[in-house]
Amino acid sequence: MAVKEILTYPDPRLKTACAPVAELDDEVQSLIQDLIDTMVAAGHSVGVAAPQIGDCRRVVVVDVSHSKLGKENNHGLMVMVNPEILEREGCETMREGCMSVPDFTGNVTRAQNILVQFTDREGRDQAIRADGFEAVAIQHELDHLDGMLFLDRVSNLKTDVFRRKNR
Ligand code: ZN
Repeated sequence: MAVKEILTYPDPRLKTACAPVAELDDEVQSLIQDLIDTMVAAGHSVGVAAPQIGDCRRVVVVDVSHSKLGKENNHGLMVMVNPEILEREGCETMREGCMSVPDFTGNVTRAQNILVQFTDREGRDQAIRADGFEAVAIQHELDHLDGMLFLDRVSNLKTDVFRRKNR
């Protein structure tokens, strides 16, 4: 149970494909709590993936309920173990940021609605439909599990990536 340091680009651990979780044991529960603590401590964060704190297992936490864009339409705090997107519909382009890429934001095109399946913190299998900002946040976090950053998704690094004015 601790706030962890967020690894930043170009740390090679962010480029690694993560391994599925075999069992929801105490060690995984403690990883989940670290992810939640780290997300909450960051204040503005809407999600953290395990590789961002140097752990290469397929676990993310997402919570857009405190964000301007996500507060009207969300599932609250979600702990997703071994998440997988089963369906994707529509597409939209949004400006994304990432704690692992602190100096830049970028325009990324993703599915508008998704059906995502995962195991929750209690070990139950879940499938939820998400749309809008929450769907984008989930897709962004799941990319981390495959070693992908939003920088890998922008169509043009010259025109679709922007330096943050202030941090
Ligand atoms: Zn990120």
